[in-house]
Amino acid sequence: MTNYRVRALALRKTKLGESDLIITMLAEDGCQIRAVAKGARKTTSRFGARLEPFSVTDVMLAHGRTLEIVTEAESVTSHEALRSDFDAVRAAAVVADFLEKVSVECQAEERLFALGTTTLDVIERSAADLYPVIVAAFLVKGMAMHGYRPALANCVGCGGKAGERPGFSLAEGGVVCDACGQGDTSVIAVSPGVPDVLSALLLSKLADLEALAVPPALVRETLLLLKAFIGYHVPARMKALDAYVKDV
Ligand SMILES: [Zn+2]
Repeated sequence: MTNYRVRALALRKTKLGESDLIITMLAEDGCQIRAVAKGARKTTSRFGARLEPFSVTDVMLAHGRTLEIVTEAESVTSHEALRSDFDAVRAAAVVADFLEKVSVECQAEERLFALGTTTLDVIERSAADLYPVIVAAFLVKGMAMHGYRPALANCVGCGGKAGERPGFSLAEGGVVCDACGQGDTSVIAVSPGVPDVLSALLLSKLADLEALAVPPALVRETLLLLKAFIGYHVPARMKALDAYVKDV
């Protein structure tokens, strides 16, 4: 049996049998791995908390019959502080859920791993009132890496000015003018500031979001638009995001 080592971000754990866990992970190359950690639910488990969701771990894997098998796990970044904070966990759950859903076919962009781990680092060291804008920035950057970078400067249909009261076409993936929005049932009316917020989030580093000082109402509207945009293009339902936008 050949073992191989992979650096991975743990996204989810699922119970298996009496004492095992299935760990869903995003590997550094953007591929999703599902692996069995035998005995991981025993208090004496040699894995300890190293395979908990949101932790970055160097895992040694062996090929199993259906799933891979974790034979060793060495912690890289535990995100322990993040896991002990309720609001941080809710924000991090959106990150993990998104990464799980877009990486399922092993066609994920490899930059998603760095985006995901950096987002968790920034959540862990930020104040709670910044979590919503961090989540919004993660989602729009993640969608861009997944092939859906929204067009925000000009109308996505004709290239002209989008007008005073822009619409956002979920289907076309960008702002539309009145004429181009006609007959497009996926168009959502957005506040004039929302396209600018999305542009700023795409261009800003995650560590610099505080300086943007986006008003909470615009963050909330941006998150609702991103939820609709993701729902339109990513077939799987993201429960963590659904729950998150309800309370922001
Ligand atoms: Zn147009």
